[in-house]
Amino acid sequence: MGGFVKEIVMKEIVLLGSTGSIGTQTLDVCRTHSIKVKALSANSSVELLEKQAREFKPEYVCVRDERCFLDIKTRLSDTDIKVLCGLDGLCELAQLPCDTVVNSVVGMVGLRPTLAAASVGRTIALANKETLVAGGSLVTECIRKNNARLLPIDSEHSAIFQCLMGAGDNRIEKILLTASGGPFFGKTRSDLENVTREQALAHPNWSMGAKITIDSATLMNKGLELIEAVRLFDVRPEQIEIVVHRQSIIHSAVEFEDGAVIAQLGSADMRIPIQLALTYPQRLPCPAKKLSLFDVATLTFDRADEDTFTCLAAAKKAIAMDGNAPCIVNSANEAAVALFLSDKIRFLDIGEAVTQALADIPYIASPDLEDILSTQRAAEEYVYTKFGGH
Ligand code: MG
Repeated sequence: MGGFVKEIVMKEIVLLGSTGSIGTQTLDVCRTHSIKVKALSANSSVELLEKQAREFKPEYVCVRDERCFLDIKTRLSDTDIKVLCGLDGLCELAQLPCDTVVNSVVGMVGLRPTLAAASVGRTIALANKETLVAGGSLVTECIRKNNARLLPIDSEHSAIFQCLMGAGDNRIEKILLTASGGPFFGKTRSDLENVTREQALAHPNWSMGAKITIDSATLMNKGLELIEAVRLFDVRPEQIEIVVHRQSIIHSAVEFEDGAVIAQLGSADMRIPIQLALTYPQRLPCPAKKLSLFDVATLTFDRADEDTFTCLAAAKKAIAMDGNAPCIVNSANEAAVALFLSDKIRFLDIGEAVTQALADIPYIASPDLEDILSTQRAAEEYVYTKFGGH
């Protein structure tokens, strides 16, 4: 190939949430391009964490609690790897000197590590959309003040980010945020009354963790992504149009003032956006399947049904309110999804729980970190008590 060798700029990452879907695919990318891993963290998958630690030889690992801490410490006792524990451990890892902190933990627990990394000016590759949704301007302000940088991993936001590469100062007129529609596209509320956990977990296009797969089935994921896009690209919620695109080939698009629309296309493989976040601004070869438009043949576009998928309507309402409202819908949803996954509530109750929590939990216009964390607790408690029978 002409003897031109691209030298990778990225040298070392800290990976928070290494045993989940994004985490393991991030390690695939590290393996492909010999990217060093300084630290790994897992919630409770200690066995996989040990395997990863033996392969990537990080300086640190971190786990959720005391029980996992003792377990992994014993397993790694023949190594020099330092073992940390809990949220404080995660925040310590987030501040280690490195080129990029990848935050792929699931849920609100990602907020403080993101703030910790931002406060020391790190480049953060963000897969944890919940913290940007709930943390809002706390996160974006902290990033701006400390000259930190966010690179999106979420496929849609990576697509928008890529559409803006080379856009200069040109203003975004509109973002076309694409949605697969999930497993229940075209269904009515009565169709969804007796949906099982297994049906909700069967996503047509993407292989992902349980929380985000349920969020895709309720369209809450698209609601969270809309809020995430408002934060990341500094647009008004009305500038974002959700387009149901069943094939997941167009990962999102940006319309400019002259009416030109730039879209990013590719196969539905998270390793493409993950790798770009790690090697940006370089593009390197990736093992993901190449896109063939002839194989796809047809691309379709539909409007989202907010009457059936009430989570999406609630998320839109929350970002219009801003303040702690996005945190309310996010935290209520986390609790409701946990209840649904343990067969305590029905599928349609998730939207009910999110909508009611937004109506009932007190609104705070300019929340600080304490307000955000107490809103989280209030919303979770509300859902567990009212819907989970706790
Ligand atoms: Mg996405």
